[in-house]
Amino acid sequence: MQLSEFLRRACGSDLWPYRGIQPVTEPTPMGHEYCGIVEEVGSAVKQVKPGQFVIGSFFASDNTCPNCRAGYQSACEHKEFVSTAQASILRVPLADGTLVPTPAVPPNELIPNLLTLSDVMGTGWFAADAANVKPGATVAVVGDGAVGLLAVLSAKQMGAGRIIAMSRNESRQKLAREFGATDIVSERGDEGVARIKDLTNGIGADSVAECVGSQESIMQAIRSTRKGGYVSYVGVPHGVALDGAELFFAHVHLHGGPAPVRRYLPRLIELVLDEKIEPGKVFDLKLSLDQVAEGYRAMDERRAIKALLQP
Ligand SMILES: [Zn+2]
Ligand SMILES: [Zn+2]
Repeated sequence: MQLSEFLRRACGSDLWPYRGIQPVTEPTPMGHEYCGIVEEVGSAVKQVKPGQFVIGSFFASDNTCPNCRAGYQSACEHKEFVSTAQASILRVPLADGTLVPTPAVPPNELIPNLLTLSDVMGTGWFAADAANVKPGATVAVVGDGAVGLLAVLSAKQMGAGRIIAMSRNESRQKLAREFGATDIVSERGDEGVARIKDLTNGIGADSVAECVGSQESIMQAIRSTRKGGYVSYVGVPHGVALDGAELFFAHVHLHGGPAPVRRYLPRLIELVLDEKIEPGKVFDLKLSLDQVAEGYRAMDERRAIKALLQP
């Protein structure tokens, strides 16, 4: 099917190729987060209809194979990465499995919130869910990018009793508090771990969400977790290696990977439409689609948390 461009955004994971850490050898379309109005559907599409407002994940999925049925649509046997979303028209494969329509075309002011569900909010939710956040739990979030901030919001929705956001940036600390953080830790690495231990009677947090993907951040997450606790990891790892002996004695559950956003879409759409969550607050830069390069620059230089692109 084809989707007319409604809104697109730039994701932190696109910064890896932008910085050249992930080599780019030829002109490559960017962007994997999208929502919009359906323009046209292929003959095999039975449920999605032109005129509907839809949201999909960055992985197209059939939503019927064993992995999808287990709730891991981002590991679908027929998955396809949707990688050309920063364009005026987007083709989404496996439309019936991938796209979730809203009951009606939503009001404009809710669309930024809905757009985040396509990746960054769905990924933040997975970060909290995979870290087994339970009512009353103490949660720590490593990383203050949009995903980390939305992991804070998700933990709050899931009833966490205490949420420790790790951030050195004042405006991000402020947003973390708005989203439900009760404590801020600005130290990193071993000092960051020591601060988490101080705040938890030397025990560590029940649930720790790792939302960066670096060696330092994953070790910080594992070492900040109590024995028997849960670590989620949703940042795409770059150069990360885990030491078997340290892992052995850490006594933690590890669960992560590319977020199965499709699993969470129906629930998250409801939360946005009922105005229970406002994840679109992470957009602190609004640009037109032809200014996309500035969006990447601003995110790369950490002048912006998240850029919203409007055709
Ligand atoms: Zn992404
Ligand atoms: Zn599947």
